[in-house]
Amino acid sequence: MRSAVLAAALILAALPGVAVAQAPSPAPPAPVASAPPAVAPRVLPRVRLVATGGTISNRRGGRLTADDLVASVPALADHATVQAEQFANTGSSQLTLEQWLGIARRVNALFRDEPDLTGIVVTCGTDTLEELAYFLHLTVHDRRPVVVTGSMRNPSQVGYEGQANLLAAVRVAADPAAAGRGVLVVLNDEINGARDVTKTDALRLHTFESRGFGSLGVVDGDRVVFRRMAEGRHTAASEFDVTTVAALPRVDVFLVYQGAPGDLLKAAVDAGARGLVLATAGAGAISGTQNEGITYAREKGIPVVATTRAGSGRIASMREPVTSTVPAPPRLAAGDLSPVKARILLMLALTRTSDPADLQRMLNEY
Ligand code: GLU
Repeated sequence: MRSAVLAAALILAALPGVAVAQAPSPAPPAPVASAPPAVAPRVLPRVRLVATGGTISNRRGGRLTADDLVASVPALADHATVQAEQFANTGSSQLTLEQWLGIARRVNALFRDEPDLTGIVVTCGTDTLEELAYFLHLTVHDRRPVVVTGSMRNPSQVGYEGQANLLAAVRVAADPAAAGRGVLVVLNDEINGARDVTKTDALRLHTFESRGFGSLGVVDGDRVVFRRMAEGRHTAASEFDVTTVAALPRVDVFLVYQGAPGDLLKAAVDAGARGLVLATAGAGAISGTQNEGITYAREKGIPVVATTRAGSGRIASMREPVTSTVPAPPRLAAGDLSPVKARILLMLALTRTSDPADLQRMLNEY
């Protein structure tokens, strides 16, 4: 019977235009167990969060911890494996210089001990964020990115932007293209270099800007975009090593204003300042009796460094007085560094030298 059906099927198949249903084929052999297709699991970059506090953590009823911050942004897991640690949880202006030294040492230790770490994010209050960022720019000895972020609104306010800033900062820290650019400041989806960035508005969200220079890049939905490199020595090329520095030398900053008294400069020298920074008017002008204070400092071998209070623009060293009635500005000059950043550079420079020519070289290079 079976062979008769088969024969009929063969005959039908031979006739043109006649479609024949295939005879059921024998059960296929059991599949041989084989290895899954060779698609490597996606390995996410590793990013460390070092939290120091600031408005980004300043929740009413209890500050957010480093772990709280990470847990509040589930989208971080799309970009990096983030491990968090709490260094401090306070306002930026309450961090001590000893804590700054500790943060720099911690960041250096993390990079040294964890070669597979892609980058580090440091959260910080925005008030003095640019100072910590520049300090790390000069004292971290690694090409891998260190990204400093924070927020202008706190977690209890409508429109809190801390989560967006943390996500953007982690994306930059996880991006290999961020390496070698020094310490970066990321807020409001913009990337600024630590040397040039400054807080330009006390309240607005768009506050961090590099006046006169512009940002280095942006953090967009699809990718991180870099558009330029900032000049100046930093990080892996820096000569400043705080591994064994117990305390930074005292350096004070003085504002030049109409009729300013020079005795404040003398008082700072007598109180132990090892260097003075002047936020001069325009391109180096001083006022009142400040020249007496400068002379007093110089006689005691205390370097006096000129910056400008104008907010941007460069102060040249060894500038001659404009007219004979205008006293010569301080001999050392910090170019276009802001007064507070010139103070940081001078503190670090004084850990290595007190030679004026060498100090000026450092002021030129960083
Ligand atoms: N705005 C403050 C700062 O820059 C933060 C205030 C706080 O964290 O309590 O650090």
